[in-house]
Amino acid sequence: MDQVLGQVLRNAVWERLDMLSDLATRADAQSLVSVARSELPRLTEGWRAMLQAHEPDERGDCPTCSTRWHKCKAPCSVWQVAHEHLVAGGLAPQQTAATQRVPGQTRVSPAETTGRHALVNPRRPAITA
Ligand SMILES: [Zn+2]
Repeated sequence: MDQVLGQVLRNAVWERLDMLSDLATRADAQSLVSVARSELPRLTEGWRAMLQAHEPDERGDCPTCSTRWHKCKAPCSVWQVAHEHLVAGGLAPQQTAATQRVPGQTRVSPAETTGRHALVNPRRPAITA
C-alpha cells in the first residue's frame, strides 16, 4: 500500500472514530441504542482481530511488533492499550478521544505502568508467557 492510500485509509478510520464519539455524546437515546447494536459488535470484532495479530508466540514475543533484530515481549503496546481501554477504564465514560488524540502518538496512562500483573486478564492467562 503506498503512502497516499495509507493516509486515506488512516483518515477514514479516524473520521469513523470521531463520528462514533460524536454520536455517543449527541445522539438521542433511541438512536444511541440502534448505533450501539450495530457498532458494538463491529468494534469488538475489530479489537479481536487486532489482538489476535498480537498474541504472543511460543517465546512470549509479539510476532507483529517484533522485528528480526528486535523482539518485543508480550504484552506489547497493543495489548497494553487494549487493557487500559477495555479493562482498566472499564465501561465508564472517558474523555472524548477526539479531543485528546494526537496522531502518531500513543498516550501513556498510569494504567499502563502499574506493573505486569495489572495487565493480566484472569480469563486470558496466556498473554504473559
Ligand atoms: Zn504487538
